Amino acid sequence: MLIYLNQYYMSVPVKRSTKKQTRTRRSHHALKATGTAKCESCETQILPHKACPKCGTYKGKKVIDVEKRALRLKRSKKGTSKT
Ligand SMILES: [Zn+2]
Repeated sequence: MLIYLNQYYMSVPVKRSTKKQTRTRRSHHALKATGTAKCESCETQILPHKACPKCGTYKGKKVIDVEKRALRLKRSKKGTSKT
């Protein structure tokens, strides 16, 4: 007779789920494309509620100094990112 002390096991499923159950569950797993907005000044496609990465404006106001940012990224080791 074996006695297991302090050992926990995962519960075992009562019944194997059918193909229909699996496929119905996975029918909601598809990714949807996110909506985009247009930049007011340079008219590129940007994420909504975000500053434009190209010209650095948000709602018509300049919030990011793009040239300084590019220089900073170039100097740092992370300068290989494409943003
Ligand atoms: Zn822009």
